[in-house]
Amino acid sequence: MKKAMTLSYEVGENLYINLTNQCPCRCEFCIRKNADGAYDSDPLWLEHEPNLDELKENLLKREISRYKELVFCGYGEPTMRMDILCSLAEWLKRNYPNCILRLNTNGLADLFNPSEVPAAERLSLFDKISISLNAGDAETYARVTRPQMPNPEEAYSAVLHFANDCKNRNISVSFTLVDIISPEEIELARQVAESLAIPLRIRKYIS
Ligand code: SF4
Repeated sequence: MKKAMTLSYEVGENLYINLTNQCPCRCEFCIRKNADGAYDSDPLWLEHEPNLDELKENLLKREISRYKELVFCGYGEPTMRMDILCSLAEWLKRNYPNCILRLNTNGLADLFNPSEVPAAERLSLFDKISISLNAGDAETYARVTRPQMPNPEEAYSAVLHFANDCKNRNISVSFTLVDIISPEEIELARQVAESLAIPLRIRKYIS
C-alpha cells in the first residue's frame, strides 16, 4: 500500500478533497481494495489524517475559482471527520462564496458520528450531496456494504432518513448505486429512490 499526503486532486473540471481514510463500511465494490488511488491520482492512502491547517494550506495552493465543483470524497468516508469537514466547508464558503460544494457520502453520519444536531443540518452549507444507496432493502444493503455495527440491517433506514432530511433542507440530493447487485435488487432500489423523489445514478463496477 503506497501512502502520500494527497489532500486534493483534479478530476475533470472538479477538485476532489481527500480528508480521511476512515470508513465504517467494508463495501464489496470499494475501489480501495484494488488500487491506491482513483482517477489517476497519486496515492490516496494518507500518511496521517490531515488537520484543518494542512487542508487549508493545500487548498490555498489551488486556484479555487477555476473549479466547477469542490468534491469532498475521501479515500474513506468524509463524515467520519465531521468537525473538520464542516469547518473546511465553512472556510471555503467564506473565502470563495461562489464555490459549489459537493459531498459524496455513505449517508451514515447520524449513526457513526452522532450529535445533538442532525447531520443534514450540520451539512447544510453543501450545495449537493451524493449518497451511496447501494440497495433497495436493508438486508441487501448490509450484505453489500457491511457496516461495522452490531445490527448492520439497521443502517439502511438511517441512509434513507438522512437523504430525506437533506432534501427537506433544500440540498440537492442524489443517490448512487454500483451495479454489483441483481437486476431485481436494482429495480427495488430504483423504486425506493423514486418514492423519495431523489434521482438515482447507477454506476458500473470497476474492478
Ligand atoms: S463507504 Fe466508500 S470508502 Fe467506505 S468501504 Fe464503502 S466504498 Fe469504500
